[in-house]
This record gives sequence, structure tokens and C-alpha cells, in this order.
Amino acid sequence: MEDANFRAEVVKTAKKAEEKGLCQYKSGNFSMIDRDNGVVYITPSGISRDELTSAMIAKIDMDGNVLEGDFAPSIEVAMHLSAYRARPEAGAVVHTHSRYATIFASMGKEILPVSLEAVHYGGAPVPVTEFGMAGSEDIAEKIVKPLQNSKVCLLKYHGSLAVGDNMDQALLNAIYVEEVALIYYHMLAIGFKDFMPQELFEGALA
Ligand SMILES: [Zn+2]
Repeated sequence: MEDANFRAEVVKTAKKAEEKGLCQYKSGNFSMIDRDNGVVYITPSGISRDELTSAMIAKIDMDGNVLEGDFAPSIEVAMHLSAYRARPEAGAVVHTHSRYATIFASMGKEILPVSLEAVHYGGAPVPVTEFGMAGSEDIAEKIVKPLQNSKVCLLKYHGSLAVGDNMDQALLNAIYVEEVALIYYHMLAIGFKDFMPQELFEGALA
């Protein structure tokens, strides 16, 4: 895949995530990794998605140094790099503040797999990280453990993080976490507790 394709894919996905209601205005950040060349393409800091163009995507090395581009990378660059180290198969990372997932992140409560969309991200409960400030090295470290067993996690008091083999998969995982969170939220709201048995997921995953 060429440099221009990575840039275009990151821009397209960032805009699509907003169209799908996963993030608003400037929140959320998106990246792809070119493992052959050891570089990451990431959305810039402080640019709203309606202004976002391919030229604004920052190209960085695995230490976070900007290789190309006049725009500073997202403040969450350390978290993205950490996700790529934690999940060697990951080709893309999507971080949003989608509403229902963020409710659970802010409550510090994992999202149980109450509907079949959960199968797409592995079928396990979505873990919550310990709290770390947005944009810090601390939160970059705190995602490592939850990501060992899950392609998605919740950032405490903050939002969600999803990885995928490619950008489409990462976005889909973010969308499905939000979908399961919405369903789970409403089940909890009416006091329902007889959730879908885990064995059904194991069957679906086999
Ligand atoms: Zn955030």
C-alpha cells in the first residue's frame, strides 16, 4: 500500500466515524500502521473532520517522531503506538468517545457481550483500563494489559479504543462496541439481568 493510500484511508475512516455518530467535531483519533516501513499515519491534533485532508495526516516513526507533515499528530500518539506494540497483528487503531461506550468507561464498568455484534471483537466482556490522563504516557501503558485479551477496551472516564487487522475492521469493532453498549445500557435500565449465555458466543466463535 502506498503512502497516499494510507493517508486517504485514515481521512475516509475519520469522516465516516463522525457520520456514524461515533465522535463529534474534534474528538477521537485514527491511525494506520505500515509495518513494512515502521511508520504510522495518524490524524492531526485539533483539526475538525470537515476540514481534514490527506496532507494533514502526520507520518511518524515508532518513537513518535514526525517524519512528514506540517500538522502535529494527535495528542494520543503514544496510546496508538502502544496499541500497535501490544497487538502485533493490528493494522489500524480507532479511538472515539462514542456515547454509550463512554457511559460504561466513565462508570468503570465492563460491557458484557449481550448481543451477537460482540462476536466481531472476540465475544468477551470489554475491559476497562485503569485511569490515565488523555494524551499521557501513563494511559499508553495502561491499555497494554486490557489489549492482551481484547481487540477493544474502554479508557476510564474517557472513551473507547479499538484495533483491527485493517482500518475497516478497527472501525467495525468500534461501531459494534458502541452497539453492544447501547443494547446493554437499555437492558440494565429496565432491570433485566438474564443476559445471553456465554456458550452461545463460544459456538459462534468456533
Ligand atoms: Zn479521547
